[in-house]
Amino acid sequence: MLRAVAGSVLGPVARQLTGAQPRIVFYHRFGELSARRLTAPLFAQQLRYLRRHFNPLSLSDVVQAQATDKPLPPRTIVLTVDDGYQDFAEVAYPLLLQYQVPVTLYAVSRFASGELWLWFDRLRYVCEQAVSQKLTVEWSEGLISVNLQTPVQREQAWDLLSTRCLTLPTVARESLIATFARCAKVVIPAQAPALFAAMDWTTLRSLDPALIEIGAHTQTHPILSMCTDSELVTEITASKLEIESALQRSVVSFCYPNGRDCDFDERSVCAVRAAGFHSAVTSSGMLLPPGSDPFRLPRFGVDSHFGTFCNEVNGLTYLRQRWSGAIAAPKPGEIPGSRASLAMP
Ligand SMILES: [Zn+2]
Repeated sequence: MLRAVAGSVLGPVARQLTGAQPRIVFYHRFGELSARRLTAPLFAQQLRYLRRHFNPLSLSDVVQAQATDKPLPPRTIVLTVDDGYQDFAEVAYPLLLQYQVPVTLYAVSRFASGELWLWFDRLRYVCEQAVSQKLTVEWSEGLISVNLQTPVQREQAWDLLSTRCLTLPTVARESLIATFARCAKVVIPAQAPALFAAMDWTTLRSLDPALIEIGAHTQTHPILSMCTDSELVTEITASKLEIESALQRSVVSFCYPNGRDCDFDERSVCAVRAAGFHSAVTSSGMLLPPGSDPFRLPRFGVDSHFGTFCNEVNGLTYLRQRWSGAIAAPKPGEIPGSRASLAMP
């Protein structure tokens, strides 16, 4: 209660103090409320707040302004959405049209083409469908035990396994998922079930390009720092070409999968630059200082709780972290602050 009152008083002050620095937020999924999904009424409430207190701009406008030292309006905010699930078209897009808020949407090219579904969703599917109440998985790197008795335990199992997968090369990650599915006696369907489905090319083409920019988020959503040199270059370069070919428009914005500092490396940044992208976003940091590296643009995920969301977008969360010493004041050209990934991946 006290925190909510403090937020409502200090929020406008924080917004004023940090208003000169643009901010980029990211979303993943929309629909029925869960840890990774935002309902339509909650998203509409957030959009109304942003329209009232901020200047929502497209990512390209911000990148271009920063490159040419052109001033941006105060309280500039950019919305981005990762992965390209079907629920974007059904839940988020009508609201973005209604409130006229631009978004950069990062599509995974082989997911959009229906050739695969995302590895962390396949893992979630196995956790949800497993009949056993407890499983011990033996694979090449040892034993992993998980409890699957309750929905909370299944969520914890997914969290444990997906976190483990983030540190694995593609082959080892797929081996762990296959072994886990076999032990759990779950057959993973070739096509994503409706809950985990992507927007296909027809749907992506139907989104108004004046409002929704389509960027690239690799071909298969690997962790780039775990990829070999050739995998990395193919994932980045081919995703751009595949989306451009399917949509017949230029793709200039890139998003590193999972996006924490450890999830991509210098090779990834070089490959993104060489492929002809104009910018790339991460998932750590909160505000853009002048002179930000366009290939390491910081972003943060927002909470579904409205009061927390307001504190985050107003910059109050950033200032609290800075004043508590959790993050250092940014120097020009540096990514300001850092924050744990809020919504994997
Ligand atoms: Zn992603």
